[in-house]
Amino acid sequence: MPRGKPANTRCVQLAADFRCQLFGRPERPAVCQTLEPSLEMCGRTAEEAHLYLLRLDLLTRP
Ligand code: SF4
Repeated sequence: MPRGKPANTRCVQLAADFRCQLFGRPERPAVCQTLEPSLEMCGRTAEEAHLYLLRLDLLTRP
């Protein structure tokens, strides 16, 4: 995604099994390589992680 990934848009590198297709490869974006997962951000389920992202999206809308 050379122009960046808009909020609320699935990354083109995210596979159907929710794995990053660039994991471990040098072309993986720096922000993805340095992001530290946390319980607050990831939650205990995929649904909790999605709710966290939706909350961030709402809080940072222009
Ligand atoms: S880690 Fe980054 S490149 Fe990989 S799927 Fe997630 S957003 Fe896309």
